[in-house]
Amino acid sequence: MTDKRVPPLNIAIIGAGMGGLAAAAALRKQGIAVTVYEQAKQFTRLGAGIQIGCNAMHVLRGLGLERGLRAETFYPRSWNNRHWQTGEVLFDMLFGPSAEQKYAAPYLLAHRGDLHAALAGAVPADCIRLNHRLVGLEQTPSGVRLSFANGETAEADALIGADGVNSIVRKSLSNDGEPRFTGRIAYRTTYPARRLGGFDIGDCTKWWGEDRHIVMYPVKADRSEVYFVTSQPEPESGRESWSEMGDVKVLRAAFESFHPDVQRVLAACPEVHKRVLVDREPLERWVEGKVALLGDACHPMTPYMAQGAAMAIEDAAILSRCLADAGRADIAEALERYEATRQERTARVQLTSRQNSWGKGVTDTDWVYGYNAWTAPLAN
Ligand SMILES: Cc1cc2nc3c(=O)[nH]c(=O)nc-3n(C[C@H](O)[C@H](O)[C@H](O)COP(=O)(O)OP(=O)(O)OC[C@H]3O[C@@H](n4cnc5c(N)ncnc54)[C@H](O)[C@@H]3O)c2cc1C
Repeated sequence: MTDKRVPPLNIAIIGAGMGGLAAAAALRKQGIAVTVYEQAKQFTRLGAGIQIGCNAMHVLRGLGLERGLRAETFYPRSWNNRHWQTGEVLFDMLFGPSAEQKYAAPYLLAHRGDLHAALAGAVPADCIRLNHRLVGLEQTPSGVRLSFANGETAEADALIGADGVNSIVRKSLSNDGEPRFTGRIAYRTTYPARRLGGFDIGDCTKWWGEDRHIVMYPVKADRSEVYFVTSQPEPESGRESWSEMGDVKVLRAAFESFHPDVQRVLAACPEVHKRVLVDREPLERWVEGKVALLGDACHPMTPYMAQGAAMAIEDAAILSRCLADAGRADIAEALERYEATRQERTARVQLTSRQNSWGKGVTDTDWVYGYNAWTAPLAN
């Protein structure tokens, strides 16, 4: 007797960053087969922190990652916004139990490597192909054909471009040029809290200067490791890279007139990385046929709301819901629905983030943190 069951959809995802891995985990949860192609030869633990908004935590909870993340990460009472010189509190954005109750999910501060490892752990290793840099794609009557720099080729029913801010998949859909350099650089590092000699950096503080700022927080539940990230004007140097090193002396000089608490954190820092800050205008078309974009490939944004990865993670849940009941013949329609559901929200976050005003004064946070991508209505 022949088996007449139709095989599950087979989706190729380009990029094993936060967005690609979240998409893989979410699609698998719906019974869809995935293969994630990542250019890197191995995963590296990036020296950076990441704020996980309550909205992202809804999705991560649905992927079974909440318990592990709570154990690894720091649970802040607030995101405190202070004047760069006087230390005056401009706005204390409350998290902790009150936000958790209001938004039905916690706000967590993580080491980026811990969040990435959690997401990678939610996808079986044999679904992830490292050392596969996509160099070409072609839509065929039955799906998408991919080619990689290592000479391999693959076919899939559909392709999701989660390949980050310099996405090659985006280039195949749209000719809107390079990302916009904001004129600003982010210096950042993580280091052991013991280097601070007992000084407490607080739960999460953004020190607002006139043309620059610095954000600092612990990234471990026991406060044993701390993180800071800046944004400061500087001429462009290099591409967006997580591995480029910066000069600690240049960084300290840029913040030398800031509050003594900031000086202490910078004085204790052994080394720094730097990364140019870029964004883009909201994109009109995310989808063409059986190819769609997700995360930074689609809507890169400044980090000033700490929502870039959260948007990628939300995309993943919505994508999986749109594809859940789709047959091979309905993939293009399902992807259009995904785009229609996500476009307005991600554009709003991109444009709000660009203003760099989130938390500077009293801020309405409900529309961001109160969103649950598992239950939010899908576009018709
Ligand atoms: C300084 C800074 C601080 C931030 N802080 C926060 C925060 O606190 N909270 C938050 O939510 N967001 C934050 N963000 C934003 C967040 O980092 C990004 O939005 C998020 O990493 C995007 O995930 P992604 O999966 O879309 O892309 P990426 O993380 O860039 O992943 C893309 C992946 O695709 C791979 N790739 C690229 N090209 C190819 C190819 N041709 N073939 C195969 N693989 C390919 C890359 O190697 C990479 O692994 C911050 C950003 C910056 C710059």
